[in-house]
Amino acid sequence: MLQMTDQELQALTRELSDIYFKKPYPDDIVFNPRLRTTGGRYIPNKCLIEINPKYLQELGREELIGIIKHELCHYHLHVEGQPYHHRSQAFKTLMKQTGSPRHCKFLPSQANRRRHHYMCTYCQQEFRRVRQVDTKRYRCGRCKGKIEKKTIPIDET
Ligand SMILES: [Zn+2]
Ligand SMILES: [Zn+2]
Repeated sequence: MLQMTDQELQALTRELSDIYFKKPYPDDIVFNPRLRTTGGRYIPNKCLIEINPKYLQELGREELIGIIKHELCHYHLHVEGQPYHHRSQAFKTLMKQTGSPRHCKFLPSQANRRRHHYMCTYCQQEFRRVRQVDTKRYRCGRCKGKIEKKTIPIDET
């Protein structure tokens, strides 16, 4: 199981902020095991980012990095006094500039036995399988569209 301390998380976040945003991240970021399905959250009045540790443990470092970058988009806009919610144009632009994701994968532990969730990219039909499916070969049973792993929004900010 992948583990990381809060100090290591903080060091990684400072590095990502420097590389992708060209700005420092002097505030705190911590793992919060009480977060359930959301990947993370930004708490504006504390200038604090919280990360769901399950995403690192179950889905790995790349997924964690995506979530951190997403929260950094909220953070940097907020501290600069810009609109920082998902619907704002400033947020969409910054996400694009920094290559930050809007969605994250579905947590395997939140699913039942059919833990692999997929969605048709054409008709949006969702389905679950016990085993992994080859998304390059398998097509939607309803419309024959391409399928991909289902994702969920990283947070509600
Ligand atoms: Zn379909
Ligand atoms: Zn968000």
